[in-house]
Amino acid sequence: MTTLTFGTRLVVASHNPGKVWEIKELIAPFGLDAVSAGDLGLAEPEETETTFEGNATLKAVAAAKASGLPSLADDSGIEVHALDGAPGVYSADWAMPGKDFGRAMQRVHDELAERGAWSGPAPTANFISVLCLAWPTGETRLFRGRVDGTLVWPPRGGNGFGFDPMFVPEGATETFGEMEPAGKYAISHRTRAFAAFKRDCLEGIAAEPARPKSGRDLEGLEAAARNLSTQAELARFIASLRDDLATNGADWPVRDLTSFLGALQQAAEKVDTPDAEPRWRTLARALLAASR
Ligand code: IMP
Repeated sequence: MTTLTFGTRLVVASHNPGKVWEIKELIAPFGLDAVSAGDLGLAEPEETETTFEGNATLKAVAAAKASGLPSLADDSGIEVHALDGAPGVYSADWAMPGKDFGRAMQRVHDELAERGAWSGPAPTANFISVLCLAWPTGETRLFRGRVDGTLVWPPRGGNGFGFDPMFVPEGATETFGEMEPAGKYAISHRTRAFAAFKRDCLEGIAAEPARPKSGRDLEGLEAAARNLSTQAELARFIASLRDDLATNGADWPVRDLTSFLGALQQAAEKVDTPDAEPRWRTLARALLAASR
């Protein structure tokens, strides 16, 4: 079986720079060097399979074959048991057009209502995340994470994304949308899939010295600021900015709170809002601009 070793270049088979940056952060301590499929100019394959494993494999294998490098892809969604597992692999599609998850949740609610599923005990559901590691030879390894819970209506909480506000994980009373990000990430399907990947593929190389980071990763921070879309992602972005200050403070031109707030004010006046509407990412970009 092929293995990952210290210094391996790994393609993250996603065209979402925010997701790429997040995975890059996770694997950096293991000395792996992540590059995105987008940066390599690889085409984004259509997700034509009917299972999470199928779609994750399709994306990872396409990127590995096209690049000649090992590749990591993920696919995720929510399965509602009284809807025979729907929306499942089609979770993102239920929010189209416009990535409107209010409408996607409403559809879950309405389809459950048609089946009378709200009248008894709370309907059950689970989130799934599948990671696929693929090699240019076509060899693949799959890692699955799952979290079970129940659904509530109306949705509650403004954190997280997607179906989070209507999902209460087992053993909790708050929805994922009401939880602090750290609470969700401690138990989420994605965290569990990544833990399985880490256990099988990364633990062996953990003893290697971490590759020293040289200076600020402004490219990564910019990609994250440009692409974040939820309150939770903004919170994680701010945590990264704080880590950057702790590690690379000498490279920050602003050294005290007064100067930082002055720079933030200027950035807030200047930062462009391409979609004519302020969003979480507008604040992230102003914060990053103020730190440069
Ligand atoms: P993708 O794998 O990034 O394409 O995500 C598929 C879809 O699954 C997302 O657009 C969401 O609708 C849903 N989903 C996956 N993970 C989560 C989660 O952690 N919370 C809420 N919705 C999720």
